[in-house]
Order: sequence, then structure tokens, then C-alpha cells
Amino acid sequence: MTPTFSFEFFPPKTDKGEQTLWDAIRRVEALKPDFVSVTYGAGGSSRHRTIEVTKRIVTETTLRPVAHLTAVGHSVAELRHIIGQYADAGVRDVLALRGDPPGDPRGEWTPHPQGFTHAHELVRMIRELGDFSVGVAAFPERHPRSSDWESDIRHFVAKCRAGADYAITQMFFDPEDYLRLRDRVAAAGCDTPIIPEIMPATDVRQISRFAELSNAAFPETLARRLDAARDNRDVAYEIGVEHATEMSRRLLAEGAPGLHYITLNRSTAALDIHANVLGLNPKSYGETHEFAGAR
Ligand code: FAD
Repeated sequence: MTPTFSFEFFPPKTDKGEQTLWDAIRRVEALKPDFVSVTYGAGGSSRHRTIEVTKRIVTETTLRPVAHLTAVGHSVAELRHIIGQYADAGVRDVLALRGDPPGDPRGEWTPHPQGFTHAHELVRMIRELGDFSVGVAAFPERHPRSSDWESDIRHFVAKCRAGADYAITQMFFDPEDYLRLRDRVAAAGCDTPIIPEIMPATDVRQISRFAELSNAAFPETLARRLDAARDNRDVAYEIGVEHATEMSRRLLAEGAPGLHYITLNRSTAALDIHANVLGLNPKSYGETHEFAGAR
């Protein structure tokens, strides 16, 4: 199957941020990616902005938006209402997530009293509500709250069996982590495609913070190289793009079903990595695929 390529954005907080986002969206649009996704905030007004940005993408661009949605702080009725809004706007793709405790992503998870406890319930609800393509999250270094691999894989497979068409991973920096996860899932009898998420590691300070939040191990050699380039942004950029390019090539060579690039609303690094990957194997892109957006 032809690998997909896609890009992730987040809803901006300011007018300037909105401009930066739309500049990035327009640059990405020119490449005709398979889809773009928009993250969902932990709470407050950014959630409304996710819905607005996603609707605007569907009405004003040729892109296929995937709306992230979490169960955090929402009753089932509210979640149904959001899905109804997406259906009305013509958004047909949702990444169904449990989310993390607001304020402290590593804190104890408490569901909304009239809400869902785990992502598989949200997957099932969305599938029941209409003709949606539904994605879920996967964790190459296992979910930070999972006590062991066995339960982690079991719950992941349950989420897929509840109706997920595909999964996108948490960021990671060692391709072996992705390959091990894929093999464990396959060994459990699940063939749901798992798309690796590619995070360009071009800024050591920013990356350390993200890696800590997402529990992603950061390879020591890469950390040392980036640290040495701490005061030279151009060199750090080159190092990050080179690492992500090598990782992306390896993942595709190993049969990964696509690449999902984190953009942080500045498409430059993601586009440079993607151009490098295309340079290797340009003919393998541009055909249709079978999961996100396939409905
Ligand atoms: P779940 O699948 O519910 O899993 C959470 C934990 O519960 C795991 O340890 C799992 O093993 C366990 N579990 C699952 N089912 C059961 C069960 N039946 N019984 C007992 N234990 C169970 N967060 C946001 O707030 N906004 C976003 O936009 C966002 N986008 C993301 C995109 C991607 C690609 C990824 C990988 C993550 C994203 N997240 C986002 C973060 C995500 O919400 C958190 O990582 C969250 O902690 C896990 O969500 P989940 O959907 O995997 O939860």
C-alpha cells in the first residue's frame, strides 16, 4: 500500500498565531497531503478554536481535516453535540482520545461523571453516530500509565476492535520503539495500520520539554549533538532535520503505512524532512490509501 503523509497543527491563541497557522496550512496544501490534523486543547477556549479551525479547513481548503477530540471534561451528551457539529460541517475524520488530566498531564485520571473512562468508548460512540473515519493513539514506549506491555497492548487492540480505522503514535526518537510496538500489536492479532508521528528535534530546550511530557526517551547522542549546537539555531535545525529524515526513511523501508509530521504550526522543518523523504522515493507517493479519509 502507498504510504500516506500528513501534518499536525494546533489551534492558535492569538491573531498572529492564526496568521502563522494559515501560512503553514497553505504551504502544506500545495503538497496535497492525505490529511491534516488539528489537536484538541486540555480545556477552555482552545477547544472551540479546534472546531473553528477544522471547519475552516474543510470549507476553505482542499485539505481533509482530522479533528482530535478528547473525553476530558465532557459529558457524553456534549461529545455527541461536537460530533454533530462536525457532521454538519462535513468533517468526517476524528482522532478519538481519552485525553489527560487538565493541569497535570501525569496526574490521576478522573472521568467526567457523565462521560467516558477510556478512548474505546469514544471510538464506539463516533462510529455509531455516522459515517466517520476514526483514528486512535498508539504509544511506541507504551502509555505512561500502563503498568505493563501486556495490558497496554490488550487495551490498544480493544480500541481498534471498537472501530478504529488506524492509529497515530506518540512522538518517539528511536525507530526500534515503533517497530517493537508494531510487532507486539501484530502478535496480538491486530492489523490496524499504525502511522508513526515524526517530531523534528530542532531545538533541544523545546524537545526536552515535549519529550518529558510525552514520556518519549531522547537518544543521548542526539541530545549531545543538539546541546552542542544550543547557540547555533541553523546547525541545530540541520541536526534535527537529518535525524528525522533518517528515521522516516527507515520507518518507510520497514513498511510503516505513512508519516504524520508535527508542524508546531511552522511547516518548514516538516516540509524539509518530507522533501528529503520524497527525494528518495518520489514515485511511491500520490496514490490513494485505505484508512484515514477512506470513508
Ligand atoms: P486510552 O486508550 O483510554 O488509554 C489510556 C490508558 O488507559 C492506557 O494506559 C491504557 O492502557 C488504559 N486503558 C485503556 N482502556 C482500558 C480499560 N478498558 N481498562 C483499564 N485501562 C484501560 N491529548 C489532548 O489533550 N489533545 C490532543 O489533541 C491529543 N492528540 C494526541 C494525538 C496523538 C497521535 C497521541 C498519541 C496522543 C494525543 N493526545 C492528545 C494525548 C492523549 O490524550 C493522552 O496520551 C492520553 O493519556 C491517552 O489517550 P488514549 O486515547 O490513548 O487513552
